[in-house]
Amino acid sequence: MYAIVGGGLAGFTTYATLRHAGIEAGEIAVFDNDPDPVACWRPRVAAIRQTEMRSESDGHCSARSFPGLAVREARRRRTVGPLLRSVCDRYRPSVAEFLDHVEELRARTSWDASFQPFEISRVAAVPGGFELDGRGVFQHVVLATGHPGLALPHGVLGDRRAVHAYEPHDYTGSVAIVGAGMAAATEWRNALASGANVVSIRRREPLRRPLNVERQFFAKRGLRMFHGAEPNWRAELLTSFSAPSYPPGRAWDEPIERATAEGRFRVASDWRETEQVICATGFKRGYREDQLLRRLVDDHGLDTVERWVVLEPDAGVGRLCDASRTLAIAGVAAQWAYPAADTLAGMKYVARRFLARSRRCRTR
Ligand SMILES: Cc1cc2nc3c(=O)[nH]c(=O)nc-3n(C[C@H](O)[C@H](O)[C@H](O)COP(=O)(O)OP(=O)(O)OC[C@H]3O[C@@H](n4cnc5c(N)ncnc54)[C@H](O)[C@@H]3O)c2cc1C
Repeated sequence: MYAIVGGGLAGFTTYATLRHAGIEAGEIAVFDNDPDPVACWRPRVAAIRQTEMRSESDGHCSARSFPGLAVREARRRRTVGPLLRSVCDRYRPSVAEFLDHVEELRARTSWDASFQPFEISRVAAVPGGFELDGRGVFQHVVLATGHPGLALPHGVLGDRRAVHAYEPHDYTGSVAIVGAGMAAATEWRNALASGANVVSIRRREPLRRPLNVERQFFAKRGLRMFHGAEPNWRAELLTSFSAPSYPPGRAWDEPIERATAEGRFRVASDWRETEQVICATGFKRGYREDQLLRRLVDDHGLDTVERWVVLEPDAGVGRLCDASRTLAIAGVAAQWAYPAADTLAGMKYVARRFLARSRRCRTR
């Protein structure tokens, strides 16, 4: 039996991969509170008014990379436009296209038949598998619990003007936006477009790069280098990927330049004067912020480096996998295996390797 703890996009992508490989819905249990795989993601995207995916055509949840969302849209709209843009790496699926794909795949894979409404608080290694909170023993388990909550700067706690960027909000006439990454840059544009005056509160200047994680670490060669490197260097590299950044380009710069000239955008060090404070400060970080992962590490004495659980290159928890059982981590907590683990590409990477590893167990 397989278990997936966490039914967000990483759990869902793993599920689609297992089902595609011929594993029956009855052989998989998915644990979460909400059966909707986009229950966490959808409101965050809506809050920052994101209309296009950050990922490209292959940023979807199906087991195979091809056909991707460009082909899907081309078929639906009977036009080759999405395919041509995809060939030039200029295709970004719309969020609506992606959500339709999730809905379709959810029905096609019988996801709801495997779903069990339950939050798992403990994973215990037992002979031949893992005991999950009295829900049974499962031979192969993937933990896909997502980000462990929203991060808020200390200074705003209890401040009624404050809202996190990933929570629903409108804009008042004067807005402070804390942070300098992709969500902050999106919020500068949103708030300016609504007519607000914007104060950007930042600790350091954002980097301008197309992706947080360098492209080489999505490919085999870069990953081999990453996996072979010394642990402290790996931790340093992962830390550098979380520095605030957003993509270069006129679409980001023009609204800021215009608003700066009009006196509607400025950088400042505090938000005392503004009516609203939007915290584009991302998520809490590290396995210790996630109760399930913290317990797993403490109960089983797992190796960690700084905020990361040490994983094998296939995202397996080495110390707890053996010839009879598999335990893997997917989503952001799998960065030790795949630096871009919190992307749909990373979710596929882990899902395929989890399947392969579990298969090797079966035949040993
Ligand atoms: C605004 C935004 C836009 C993004 N856009 C893109 C994009 O365009 N392309 C891309 O590739 N990536 C994108 N990402 C990154 C990534 O795809 C998302 O962060 C995605 O939601 C991560 O999926 P997940 O399953 O790891 O986490 P989540 O979607 O947060 O799901 C985790 C699930 O685990 C459940 N859970 C937690 N603990 C337990 C427990 N103990 N027991 C049972 N269930 C539990 C939670 O209830 C939740 O449902 C975006 C992220 C954000 C925030």
